[in-house]
Order: sequence, then structure tokens, then C-alpha cells
Amino acid sequence: MLTLIRNAEVFSPGSLGRRDVLLADARLCRVDTSVDVTGSAVEVVDADGLWLLPGLVDPLTHPCGGGGEGGFGNRTAELDAADFIQAGVTTPVGALGTDSITRSLEVLYGKVMELRARGLSACMLNGGYRLPGLTLTGDVARDLVLIEPVIGTGEVAISDHRSAQPDASGLRRLAAAANLGGTLSGKQGTVLVHVGEGQAGLSPIEQALAGTELPQRIFYPTHANRSRGLLEQAVRFTRHGGFADITVSTTPEFIEAGEVPALQALREAIAAGAPAARLTLSSDAGGSLPLYRDGQLAGLQSAKPSVLLELLRDVARSRPDDFETVLAAMTQNPADAYGLTAKGRVTPGADADLLLFDPRDGRLVEVYGRGRPLLRANRTKES
Ligand code: ZN
Repeated sequence: MLTLIRNAEVFSPGSLGRRDVLLADARLCRVDTSVDVTGSAVEVVDADGLWLLPGLVDPLTHPCGGGGEGGFGNRTAELDAADFIQAGVTTPVGALGTDSITRSLEVLYGKVMELRARGLSACMLNGGYRLPGLTLTGDVARDLVLIEPVIGTGEVAISDHRSAQPDASGLRRLAAAANLGGTLSGKQGTVLVHVGEGQAGLSPIEQALAGTELPQRIFYPTHANRSRGLLEQAVRFTRHGGFADITVSTTPEFIEAGEVPALQALREAIAAGAPAARLTLSSDAGGSLPLYRDGQLAGLQSAKPSVLLELLRDVARSRPDDFETVLAAMTQNPADAYGLTAKGRVTPGADADLLLFDPRDGRLVEVYGRGRPLLRANRTKES
């Protein structure tokens, strides 16, 4: 099965200019100024006027719901494949969240496999907020080696009242297990770390790394934009070789409490010397966001996968100079943070996870997941 997308403005995520892109089954096989395929049945998609982008890689989602603070009435809902597809997210990385008691890794595994059956390249983390983390086989490293969709562990919570208050040795043991499982399975074995509001910020993971042979990138802190102080720590962490993740979902109350809006955080971190390639953006979809009415907590709402695409749209319209940086933080960078080398880029040999985006109205025209059309507008013709 061949699909030829013609005359798209391609972002790989860096701008390549006008290109033809040939898909052979699940892979991208050519990206060139002009591709001609003759003598075989090939579906041709005219992408004149459209931008072709890598499918988004969302490094933190809670597809079976994340939190539920404040009682069972506030449990956040599961996410469906359509929620991700309409948001252009072709590689959601799923994790348990605050609640790893009424949600299990077995349920998360089932959800991830359901998303895969619907064309998404979903992956998962074992563990959860608490230590020792949950596993499917009884051991963090065994899960990584024996269970294909498991690519790491987390989001283990630090500097947060909801955490298990892990000490450096607990975090070091977890990182060692993830590193060994990753080494044996050819995965990165990343430890995603939820960083809360506590004063310590990233210090617990810096202490865990001190004096070990573990690579800096074994820990991947998220919510780095929770405060300016934490963002400064995250800049240092990325300068030492780690990745740091910025959460896009927010509320006016979070911003008022000192959270730095995602785009601003990304720009500030780069200006302060963070390597742009080691900064990522996530939705935290399915996670809980407090809902206020007249200044009073009135329940929780659920973060949405669509916040990434909405930010991308805003940037395309109002800050075009930042577009490639923001797109990389939603595609290639998170793929690299997890060692997903075939994801988040438009290059021959990569998986054919692609978006066709209309820059005139910010509309997502088509979505391909491993070469399979998951969302289509009436723009295709057979030849
Ligand atoms: Zn979190």
C-alpha cells in the first residue's frame, strides 16, 4: 500500500520547504522535492497549501483517568482514541496518576492496547505516584523486558504532599531498575518524575544521581513550569544532559499561584541556556484540574489532549518564528526523551505518523497513524 502526499510544506519538525512524501505501509519511505511513482496503485493526496507535520508525541497522558482528589465524585474520566486523534496526538504515553488504587496497570495496559487497535502508537509507564511502584510482573525491570508497550516507569511523585516521600536511595533503586530493564530490552527505560509544589523541587533526583553511573536522562521531570524557581532548576538539569517537560494544561488559578504558561516557560528556559532539543511539552490529559466557582473549589475537571494542538495553532498564527521550536517540543524531543527513534520526525525510515494541518484556519485536515488514515477530510483522490 503506497500513499503519495504531494506538495506539502513539510516540517520534520524543522522546515524542509515544499516536498512530496511517500508512505509505504506503516513507514515513510521518501521525502523529496518531487517523487514519481508509476506502474502501481498509489493513492495520491494533494496537500497543496497544507503543512505536513510529524504526529504529536504526548509524553504524559492518563488515558484511564488520572486523579480523583476530594472523593469519588471527582474521579476523572477515561480518554478515547478519538480524543487523541482529533488532537493530532499519534503517540500518547500513558501513565497512572495520583490514583493508582482504583486504577490499575492492568486497566492501563488494556487501554493502551485498545488505543493501538485504533491506530495509535500508544505506550505506557509502569509504577505511579508511589514507591514502590506498581508493576505487571512484580519487578520494574522485568516489565520493561517482557511487556512491549512498557517503555519506562512513573510518574513517580517527589516534592509533593501526595508522594510517598521517596528518599534518594529509593529513587536511585528505581532508576537502576529502569536502566537495567531498558538496557536489556533496547528501550530507554525512562523514569518520569512528577515534581510537586514542595521547596525541594528537583533536589531529590539530583541527590539520587550523585555519585552513580546512571545517565542524567534516566530521570525525566515533568511540571517544570510549576514555578519560576523550578523552571530554573530544570534549565540546569537539561544543561547536564537531562530532558525536562513543561505542562501545557493549566487554569487561571494555577497561573495566579505562580505557574509559568507553557509557551513562556519554553521561551524563558531556552533564553536561560537550556538546550531546546531537551525541552518537551505534554498535555497531562486525563489528569485533574481544580474547578473554581466564586473563588471556591467546586470540583475537578479533566485535562484534555487537545491543548497541544491549540497551542500549536496559536503559535502558527501569532508567533510563526517559534513554530519549529514548539513543534519539536511536541514531537522529536519527547520521542528522544523516551528513545522512540522512529517517532516524532518526518524522515525516510520513520513511522508514517503524520498530520496535515491547514495554516489558514488551524484545522487538522488529516491524521495518519503508522500509515493508516485515522482522520480524513474530503481532499483525497485516487489515481
Ligand atoms: Zn503529575
